[in-house]
Order: sequence, then structure tokens, then C-alpha cells
Amino acid sequence: MNQTPEEILNKPVQFLKSIGPKRAESFKKLGIVTVRDLLFYFPSKHLDRTTILTAIKAYGILINGYEGELTIVGSVYEVEKIRFRQKQILKVHFRDKSGMFECIWFQGLNYFAELFHAGDIYALSGKPSLSRYGNLQFTHPDFDRITEDESNNLLNTGKIIPFYRIPKDLRQKSIGDFSLRKIISSAVVEYSSFIQETLPAEIIHNKKLISISEAVKNYHFPESPDLLNAALQRLKFEEMFYLEILIALRKHNHKTSQPGQSMKIRSRLISEFLKILPFQLTKSQLKVLTEIKRDMESESPMNRLLQGDVGSGKTIVALIAMLIAVDNDYQAVLMAPTEILADQHAKRISSLMKELSQVYKDRVIRVSLVIGGQKKSERETRLSNIELQGSDIIIGTHALFEKEVKFKNLGLVIVDEQHRFGVEQRAKLINKGITPDVIVMSATPIPRTLSLTLYGDLDVSTISEMPQNRKPIKTFLRGESKLPEVYKFIEEKTKEGYQSFIVYPLIEESEKLELKSATTYYKDLSQTYFKNIRLGLIHGRMSWQEKEEIMSLFLAKQFDVLISTTVIEVGIDIPDANIMLINDAHRFGLSQLHQLRGRIGRGNMQAYCILIIKDEYVSKDRIPNLDYLSNAQIEKQKAIVRLQTMAQYNDGFKISEIDLKLRGPGDIFGTVQSGFPQLRYIDVIRDSDIIMDAKKSAFEIIKSDPHLLLNNHLVIKNALLNYYKENLKYAKIA
Ligand code: ADP
Ligand code: MG
Repeated sequence: MNQTPEEILNKPVQFLKSIGPKRAESFKKLGIVTVRDLLFYFPSKHLDRTTILTAIKAYGILINGYEGELTIVGSVYEVEKIRFRQKQILKVHFRDKSGMFECIWFQGLNYFAELFHAGDIYALSGKPSLSRYGNLQFTHPDFDRITEDESNNLLNTGKIIPFYRIPKDLRQKSIGDFSLRKIISSAVVEYSSFIQETLPAEIIHNKKLISISEAVKNYHFPESPDLLNAALQRLKFEEMFYLEILIALRKHNHKTSQPGQSMKIRSRLISEFLKILPFQLTKSQLKVLTEIKRDMESESPMNRLLQGDVGSGKTIVALIAMLIAVDNDYQAVLMAPTEILADQHAKRISSLMKELSQVYKDRVIRVSLVIGGQKKSERETRLSNIELQGSDIIIGTHALFEKEVKFKNLGLVIVDEQHRFGVEQRAKLINKGITPDVIVMSATPIPRTLSLTLYGDLDVSTISEMPQNRKPIKTFLRGESKLPEVYKFIEEKTKEGYQSFIVYPLIEESEKLELKSATTYYKDLSQTYFKNIRLGLIHGRMSWQEKEEIMSLFLAKQFDVLISTTVIEVGIDIPDANIMLINDAHRFGLSQLHQLRGRIGRGNMQAYCILIIKDEYVSKDRIPNLDYLSNAQIEKQKAIVRLQTMAQYNDGFKISEIDLKLRGPGDIFGTVQSGFPQLRYIDVIRDSDIIMDAKKSAFEIIKSDPHLLLNNHLVIKNALLNYYKENLKYAKIA
């Protein structure tokens, strides 16, 4: 029976020696079902003797003032629990051939005491210090167990050892470090040569890459540090190359689909509209408008990303683009992620159109709102209006995707806060017109090199300046114990005409998480600190009509303080609200905090953002290297970095750069564009050379051979069909 290499690699792991049904179950939890999965289950780190010190050398550099991390390999000598300042701590003594050193734990004593047995060999990493008695000491070090053989190979022959991430529960049950290394090692020996090449030969040659099977082998068990590096380079290039192929295909399909409409400024509509605006457009707004106008004039359909920091004035740019479409007798639609935001857009735009109709009488521009939860009769009239082109500008939420929503002549689609929508959803709307022009808007700006590659299928316009007269928002971090003072501050500012948002992470109290809830605090505060202040409450469980009413009352200054959950996060614009107090701020992500803060500072008053955090998060300490902390410690340190970033920067570009660093590569596509594969190897900040290089190769190939018909591109076609089928689905749509 002759099996193809593909069939061999697709065998379930259970058929490997030393994997029975029980282990196979555990492997499944790690996402490993086939032999191929196992081969591509890569180590999270490697241990290499050039990075290891003997105890005596480590001691030497430590007393000479070294302050960084280091690694020592040693065997457990003695485990003892001792008392230290009224508390029990665990001290484990280790030794290597040069001398002794020790590790201490303040937490999880029983677990660690059970773990370490005399004679066991470990690699210990961390930032050592000198103990009271002058010994070299690690506190809560990072550790990995190795066998005596491995230790000999490592230290004497220079063999590099891989370490695999194994979740705690699996580790205790059925997979240990040694057994996993052994299983993978024999699978690599037996099967890695069956892995078929996935990059064209000329790319491998020109970029001096190693083959995929060599890369897999050396990423597990590198023959040298150089080969380990070569393996990683190859995997990074490959990952980026296929991502860019997908992007290039998308772009190609979009450009060559049917021609769109050519729209020009035909009447005085736009110039009259600019006259009624209470402000001058910024240079940046004018620049992006020129870009948009040029695209609209051209017959090939526009596919443009409009990015700009929170509050930079994207809505007005979008509206002008919509008016150009209307001026050409097309309908334009603006899609927003929440009902209150859609409603706000509809109100603002309707009132501007009313004003416009006073000075420009040639044509009345009709605005419609389509959202879920409207009365049926009302909705039906609106829908039939849209179909009959009784409406020119249609604003709505997800409800716009529904089948009954039909347009007569849809020429322009604008998606606000685009990351809130999936590609599929966007496509549903876009397909309601005949190749309409498309603008997607985002307030999560990303660095330029990144946007060029990640948004490769879109043309990018960036609003890079804020409207004038904006004072930078002042941001403070305050521990919970300072809340009474903060409340007093809000009370004083209210007398000066300020309005405030107070945000809580939850609607109702959750005992388990001890998070604060909007409803509870609304009741509390109205009887205590804010007895003399008018409070409003808004949260996500209200119907949109209720929410809308509260927002209108707040806008009309019927409340001074609005207690809220994160429903107010995106897009809401209340000019007199200039204080934003966020409770349990350490719980929020950076972009969410920045979005929330973006709700204030829109007028010319000085705005204040106050982040309330658990007192323990008020930290001035240096941020330690995250690699050596437990997960819980890492989460805490990351929260501290997020909070300090907020206090230090107002610039959304800077903030999103830090956010990308904190969250790592895997997460980025979720926020940027959906429908793309997750990144596993690339570091989007550091690997910009590889990113640009892979992009160039991929785009050249799709340009010269868009259907991948050439013989030497067959490997690409096969790889796409075998490994990127899911993502290919979206390559055809904008
Ligand atoms: P975002 O880009 O976050 O969507 P908005 O479009 O909501 O920002 O604009 C924020 C506020 O700035 C709005 O109140 C808007 O009317 C105002 N604005 C927009 N452009 C200008 C400008 N050129 N000068 C002054 N204010 C402006
Ligand atoms: Mg907006």
C-alpha cells in the first residue's frame, strides 16, 4: 500500500509508538491530532549552553554589579521550609559542579516543595541577588527540568534543548517534559522528511532560506544556534508570504471586478455644505478628502481605509463623501457598530441636512435610520423608502445586513469602527450595490509599515492632526482609596459646568470577580457623595430607545454625571462631557481605555481622565522582564504598563504601538482585519524587514501570475488549497 507523503503526515498521532488513547486525548487538547500537527507543535524556547553560566561565574558577575537575568543548570540538593519575617517560605538548595546556589518561593510553597526532589536536574533562570548570608539566590525563578543525559549533552557536547509549553493539568496527568521531548524527537526523525516544500524553489534560492523539512527539524532540535535562527527565519518568511499572497489576491480580485461608478462634484451642494459647518476642516481632513474624491472620480471601485485618532473628525469626512455620492444620484450608507452610535450619527446628520436645506434649496437630502428594535410599521416604511430611493443617506447597524434591506442605487458604503465587523458582514452590505465605493474607518491606528502590509488590499488615508483648540487631556492614576477626593473634584467641576462619565466594567455586581457594577454604584452614589448632583444611568441591557433617551438627556445637560458601562465606548460625542472616570481601569485593554478617554476633550475646556485602580497597581517600580514571571504576575505587570502608557501618552498611534507589543503577534488580525490567518512566528514590530520582503515577493507573483498557473507557482496553489482554504474564502471579497 503506497501512501502519499500527505497521507502519512495526516495519520492520527495515536498510531505513533508510546501514544495510547489516553495520551492521544491529551494531545487533542493541545490541538495535536495528526502527525503533522505534532511536527508543527514547536517549542516555546530553547536552552543553549552559550547562555548558561556556572554557579561560580554567576556569583562572580553578580558581585561585580551585574543586574540582568541569567541561567544556571544544577541539581536539587535540599528542600526546606523556613520561617522568614513571620512567614513560611520555601528554600531549595541547588548545586552544580562549581558550587551551590539557592532558590526561594514565597507563594505556592506546597506545590513547589512537592515538585523538587533531591538529585533532579533543573535549568533555573531569573534575576539573581545576594542573600543575607551572601549566597547567590533566585526568587521565584523560571525553571525547566532536564534529564541527566540531556544535561550532559547540553553542557558537554553543546546540544540545544527545546522546551514545550504543557498546560498544568495535562502535565500532571499524562504528558511530561521528558516524554513529550522524546515523542517529538522520534517523530521528527521518522517523519520530517515527508513534509512537502511549500515555497517556490526560486524564492528559497533567492532569499537563502532553508527547506521546510529542515526548518521543522531544526526548530525542534537545532544542530546549532545558527540553524535554529535559520529555521525561525524560514517559518517567519513563509507565514508572512502566505498572508501577503492572500492580501494580494484580495486586492487583485477587487481591482479587476466590474468597474464601479465615476462620481464627481456636480452642483453647489458640497460648497454650500462646507459653508454651514461651524468650523474649518483641518489640513489633514482636506488631504484625505482629496484622496477620497480622486478615488470616487475614478471608475475602479474605491476600497479605502480612513484612519485617524479618536476625535480627529472622521465623521464629517465620511459625510462629505456621502454627499458627493448623493450629488451623483446615488444612495450612500453609513454603518455603525452600536445603535446609540447609529442614532447619534443620524441625528447629527439630519440636523446638518436641515440647516443645509435653508441655504441650498435645489434638493432636499433625506436621511433614514435602520436599526433593530424599531417598530415594525416604522421599519417597513423606511425600508420601502430605501428601495424606492426615497432616502439618500441611510444610517444603520447590523440590521442593514438583513435580507429585506434592499437599495435602489447604492453607490457608497462607509463602515464606522470597522474592526467591530467581520469581513463577511461587510461583504453582505457591499454586495447590496453594484461594486459600490467603500470606505472603512478605524480609530485604532497602527504604525505605518504595519498598515502598509496588513491593510495591503486597502488604500490608506490617515488623518494625522486633531482639530485646533483641543487641549491635551490630563490623565491621572488613582488608587481606590482616593475615590472620595475624586468625587469631590467632580462635584466642584460640575459647578463650573462640566459633565462627567463614570464608567464601571459591569452592569450588576459580580461577587466572584469583585468588579464594580454600574447599577450598584448608581444607587450608592446618588444617596451619598452625589446627593446634590443629577445622575443618569445607562447600560447595555437597556433597549436602544431607553439608551437613546438617556443620551439625549445627557446631551441636553439634564444630567451632570452619567454612570455607565462600556456601552459608551465607541463614537459617542458629548461636547460638554469633559471628565472621564474609569473604575477598575486595570481590567481594560489599552485601545478600550483610549476609546473611552476619547469621549472627552472634544470642546475647548480642559478635560480630565481619571483611572481608578486597585491600590496595589499604583506602582512606580521598574517593569521586570515579563519572561520570568508567572502568568498572573505577567497579567499584573502588563496592566501596570497599560495604565502608565495611558498616563503618559495621548497619541493614539503611540498607544496602539505599545498595545501591539503587549499583546503580541497572534492577536493583531482580530483587531485589524478578520479573515486572515493568525500569526505565530512573526513579531510585527521587530520583523519589519521580513514583512516587507515577503510582501514584495508575494505581490510580484500575484501581479505576474494572478491565477497561479505557472508551473513554478504550483506549490503556492497547493499550499493555499491545503492549508489556507478557510482564508481563501475571503480573498475574493473586499
Ligand atoms: P472621530 O474621528 O473619533 O469619529 P468625530 O468625527 O466624532 O471624531 O469628531 C469629533 C468632534 O470634532 C465632533 O464634535 C466634530 O464635530 C468635531 N470636529 C470635526 N472636525 C472638526 C474640525 N475641523 N474643527 C473642529 N471640530 C471638528
Ligand atoms: Mg467616530
